[in-house]
Amino acid sequence: MHADATTEEVAAIVQRLESLGADVQVTTEGGRVVVNGSTEGRLHTEAPWEDLPGVERVVPVIPGGRRAGRRFRPEATVVEVGQVEIGGGRLTVIAGPCAVESREQLLDAAEAVKGAGAHILRGDAFKPRTSPYTFQGLGKAALELLAETREITGLPFVAEVLDPRDVELVAGYADMVRIGTRNMSNHALLREVGLQPKPVQLKRGRAATVDEWVDAAEHILSQGNRQIVLVERGVRGFDPSARNTLDITAVPVVKKRTHLPVMVDPSHASGRRDLVGPLAKAAIAAGADGVMIDVHPSPETALVDGPQALRPEEFHKLMTELRGVAAAVGLVVGGPSQS
Ligand code: PEP
Ligand code: MN
Repeated sequence: MHADATTEEVAAIVQRLESLGADVQVTTEGGRVVVNGSTEGRLHTEAPWEDLPGVERVVPVIPGGRRAGRRFRPEATVVEVGQVEIGGGRLTVIAGPCAVESREQLLDAAEAVKGAGAHILRGDAFKPRTSPYTFQGLGKAALELLAETREITGLPFVAEVLDPRDVELVAGYADMVRIGTRNMSNHALLREVGLQPKPVQLKRGRAATVDEWVDAAEHILSQGNRQIVLVERGVRGFDPSARNTLDITAVPVVKKRTHLPVMVDPSHASGRRDLVGPLAKAAIAAGADGVMIDVHPSPETALVDGPQALRPEEFHKLMTELRGVAAAVGLVVGGPSQS
């Protein structure tokens, strides 16, 4: 309230907030009256508060999210994917092909990433392609191959879901479902994944601010699902040297603001095999809880994103380097939980 706000003006604000069902507290800070009221999102739409007599300023108390915020939950959330944990001081690595192309391709990739020490397999059944005339994914057949590969290797897997109508199908097979960059603001999809129990990877929209990204997580959280991992995958920049500009700053920003684990996808961020290693190391050094890396047994023949996929031996070497970075920043290298 203004320094010279009258008792009647304060009372009018309190009454108005209470009429919206808010829980109201009145305090005095630095000689002026502060009215605290939680209005469950109705505050912005139902009154031009700053025009009311005596009001000086409206301050959002939990910027960028309610349930996702550190104020809501100070301790870090640990997300469980099968037996693997993400967050809480460990480094978790997800690796595998961008898309499932065949049984042989998937099994070769899975054995390679497992041998190198990855914890979770990636491989998509539904691909969000820019052109409708390119490979769109094998759909349900890919999910069956992924489930078979899990049986053989023991690796849990994550797969993207593109359509609210496919959430039940994908979540029925996968250990974790992913919302890709193009769907970060698809509220119908966010709602559906929020209503089911499998953990969710939420990629940052390619032109989304951190606030918009956290708000997207809020849509999932509001439906009851608390198992969310945020994935920074680069934003649209102005420099064509790489496909996107990896926003390393977002990693510590989001980790400070929210209690959710944060991963980085250096493969989709750069679109370039030679940049994947340096960006992955930078991500871990900046505080990411893990990285997700494209690995393909023969990138030259890949149907999707070959130029960014690491060959098995390149991934093996990178894993050794990543363990060194993780140790330097005090992360335990993740894996199946002991419980
Ligand atoms: C992917 O991870 O396969 C993918 C399509 O990434 P993004 O949504 O970040 O483009
Ligand atoms: Mn891809």
